[in-house]
Amino acid sequence: MTATISKIIWLAFGIVWVILRQRPGHRSRKTPVRYSARGLREFVLLGASLTGLGIVPGVYLAIHFPRFADYPVTPALSYLGIAVDLACLWLFRRTHSDLGHNWSVSLDLRERHTLVTTGVYALVRHPMYSGFWLMALAQLLLLPNWIAGPAGLVGFGILFFGRVGREEDMMISAFGDEYRTYMRHTARVVPWLY
Ligand code: SAH
Repeated sequence: MTATISKIIWLAFGIVWVILRQRPGHRSRKTPVRYSARGLREFVLLGASLTGLGIVPGVYLAIHFPRFADYPVTPALSYLGIAVDLACLWLFRRTHSDLGHNWSVSLDLRERHTLVTTGVYALVRHPMYSGFWLMALAQLLLLPNWIAGPAGLVGFGILFFGRVGREEDMMISAFGDEYRTYMRHTARVVPWLY
């Protein structure tokens, strides 16, 4: 396992993820929105996540910047990164099939929005965000660079902590006690822990 192979694997997973997102993206554009909490704040949060998970590592792969922050590859960490990325892709597929037409890239409520509490949503309230944490962790494990590697954890962390409370408030305002009860039975992103 060399640094180049580890980087190519990160890129290949990214491409598969983008392909997996095509169908849900298409469906979401066709499903009317009944309420949206999008705004400058959501725009900035999404920008931070895109920067950390896409732009910073993308620049690193394209022009090898910042080269000074490189460190040697540990093959065992790269293999672990592959396993984490596989788990991440599986989770993205599951969450999209469980959420169906209720999915949005931002904070929206769709026409005929239903509260999903089954499948992976029976274990945690934000399994798609669990998937993003796995994606960010895989980036750290696969990219041997002190800036490009952790950038995903920082970028997605900003989105997650800036959004998750507001998302839960939005779900409470839409589903009331049904969501409050659901919250009592589930963790946020790590089953039984958080
Ligand atoms: N936070 C969830 C969903 C991310 S997609 C997860 O990580 O899996 C974001 C959209 O999903 C939000 O706009 C919200 O309307 C919707 N959503 C979040 N939780 C939901 C649930 N349990 N059932 C239905 N829709 C949900």
